[in-house]
Amino acid sequence: MKILIVAALAVAVVGAVALKKGKAPAQSNATTAGLGEDSPAMEMAASTVKLPKLLDLGADKCIPCKMMAPILEELKQEYADKMDVEFIDVWQNPDVGKLYGVEMIPTQIFYDAGGQELFRHTGFFGKEDILGKWKELGVDISGGNASAGIVREKPLTADTRPRDQVCFMCDGDVNAKTRAVVKGQIEQRVLCGPHCYFIYYSSVVGADAETVDAKVSVTDWTTGNLVAATAATYLYGLDPKGRPTIKAFAAQEIATKEQQASPGNLLIWDLLRSKELATRCAFCDRAVYPEDACAVKFGTTHGYGCCTHCSMGVAARLKQDIEVEATDGLTGELIRVKTLDGQIASLEPATAIAWFGQKKNPEGKWVSAGCFKQGFFMSEANLQKWLDGRPTMTGRQISIARALADKMKLSPEQIAKACKFGECK
Ligand SMILES: [Zn+2]
Ligand SMILES: [Zn+2]
Repeated sequence: MKILIVAALAVAVVGAVALKKGKAPAQSNATTAGLGEDSPAMEMAASTVKLPKLLDLGADKCIPCKMMAPILEELKQEYADKMDVEFIDVWQNPDVGKLYGVEMIPTQIFYDAGGQELFRHTGFFGKEDILGKWKELGVDISGGNASAGIVREKPLTADTRPRDQVCFMCDGDVNAKTRAVVKGQIEQRVLCGPHCYFIYYSSVVGADAETVDAKVSVTDWTTGNLVAATAATYLYGLDPKGRPTIKAFAAQEIATKEQQASPGNLLIWDLLRSKELATRCAFCDRAVYPEDACAVKFGTTHGYGCCTHCSMGVAARLKQDIEVEATDGLTGELIRVKTLDGQIASLEPATAIAWFGQKKNPEGKWVSAGCFKQGFFMSEANLQKWLDGRPTMTGRQISIARALADKMKLSPEQIAKACKFGECK
């Protein structure tokens, strides 16, 4: 007997899809798809080690089932030695659906190591909920190799750069020709250039432009002297990759001269400011260049996430499904993430992972190391290579689903303060 879908759209998002008996399938040889490589019969014959088992019965084209796929894949990898995770496509294998008495998909069945059914759930079931259910059922799957991803709690080498040569904002080396300095009450903050100043400015809670701008000095391109940022003239050009470059000049006539040698627009501070602040992170509101950002589509419009993790946060801030185009931090290859109701709906490639750059705060708690320390990677191998080139970096590998989940749990108040000084957690 073939199982047929009768309802799909109305309940497809977080609910389940109803199944009903119908006509026999055109093809008779049942095969499983997705995660399940073996038919149940083969599985039974082959299994020698007795482990608890999570069986997901779904279909490749049902939306909540598709949302389960990356979760099952993660559980399968992270708990490989603690439980079996199997997926069976009941549209392709209607007899199997009948065998398990499945009427709605997706259905997850929890078995103990003896093969006894402990619990079943219908509809989308999140990763944390699944792990919580095992605990509630008294089945210990802890340990696993859930933390098998890369963790670096101590830098491989200490950052020995003098503090006045490190950008306060991006942690990059400060070029003496573009250096900017913001006067603080106790100490001054050194920035690699005017662009990092605007990121700085957009990270101050309740910033008043006039007050903050009055504290910043920029370096005159020709003399190397610091001048008040608001009084300088700026030559705004583009580098070969199309990313903006900004040179500051104390004297306008020298800026005009430089313009003949290297093309660009001459701007006064107010124009530079509006240009620099024109594109903002759709999650944290920081100034961002599209060239540095992740493209985020939502509805019929689009925006940018200033970092990979902020791009996930757009779904939380707008309470909308989003599509993100990020690039591998090492190779620049495209990583595409789609969300549905705050969960990952699809991930290309499926192997893609995230790096959560973290540092210890004064209380010894691990907190985000900020937008410039985050990234997505096609594989753990790429992440490892990227980290090899960043010996001072600390943090841990997480799944992209986790990166999204971390943002989805933020309250509107927390989102309003996201990435702001003293607020970034
Ligand atoms: Zn910087
Ligand atoms: Zn951001």
